[in-house]
Amino acid sequence: MDDCIFCQIAAKKIPSKIIYEDEEVIAFEDIKPQAPVHLLVIPREHFSSLNQVPAGKEALLGKILLVARKIAEEKGVAESGYRIVLNTAADSGQEVLHLHFHLLGGRRMTWPPG
Ligand code: 5GP
Ligand code: ZN
Repeated sequence: MDDCIFCQIAAKKIPSKIIYEDEEVIAFEDIKPQAPVHLLVIPREHFSSLNQVPAGKEALLGKILLVARKIAEEKGVAESGYRIVLNTAADSGQEVLHLHFHLLGGRRMTWPPG
């Protein structure tokens, strides 16, 4: 997807602070962090949102969660706590139409979310 900002980040056509990458998944710092730790974990493959992920991608979705957990451990927030957010479609506030999981930590979160 040439016009997708996160595809371009994954392809390193747009710079970002990459924290983790492998052949399927890449994680980078959010440009506008909402917490001391705020990363985005995405599949390299383009899906506009969770709604567009087909059956058969269970392993990929699970891997993203485990990558997020590993980063939480490395960032030192695994014990103190962290939140993984997956915004999907308009009511959630999803702005970037490439599936991404937010990893937020390093401060006390509130509930319910806004
Ligand atoms: P959404 O609202 O779609 O769930 O979250 C999109 C996130 O992407 C926001 O937290 C926003 O700050 C982040 N973001 C948008 N554009 C860029 C960018 O060019 N680089 C990085 N690193 N993050 C971005
Ligand atoms: Zn994309």
